[in-house]
Amino acid sequence: MINSQMPLQSSYRDQDCSVAAALEVVGERWTLLVVRSVLLGSHRFEELRAALGIATNVLQARLTRLVDEGVLERRPYQDHPPRCEYHLTEKGLALWPVLAALTDWGDTYLRDAPPVTFRHRDCGGTVDGHRICASCGERLDVTDVVAEAGPGAAPDHRLRASGPRPLSPAEPSIPAR
Ligand SMILES: [Zn+2]
Repeated sequence: MINSQMPLQSSYRDQDCSVAAALEVVGERWTLLVVRSVLLGSHRFEELRAALGIATNVLQARLTRLVDEGVLERRPYQDHPPRCEYHLTEKGLALWPVLAALTDWGDTYLRDAPPVTFRHRDCGGTVDGHRICASCGERLDVTDVVAEAGPGAAPDHRLRASGPRPLSPAEPSIPAR
């Protein structure tokens, strides 16, 4: 049997490998983009659906899986009807270096100009794929960084309208009354 006719395995569970274990959690289509959008400040289902432009059932499945895996947590913001926001847990925020490195790789090899630029909140320096500030040389935690529209951003890019957004986890919302 030639390779192209072999069925794809549905999981990497037989792999004795941490990359495979990580991809079991974040390797499904859209999953890492859901994490990215939460990191960039979209916390509510409708915000995420608008930011990603994906089907509601796919988004719901990805959110449920990420909550089950402890990458996201739900925080209620409204009682009637019950609604919750999605926030990154410590385990989820620990994906920031992965997103910084993937962004840098995409900027370098796949794009003419970066659609999103990360900057050091305190000094304004740009942040590279190793999370080092080009201006002050500090290695930055997720709470030290803001994202803004880069030179390659489309005219309707969300970050153009919102301006720079902190990557830090948002404070818990006050429930609506
Ligand atoms: Zn700096």
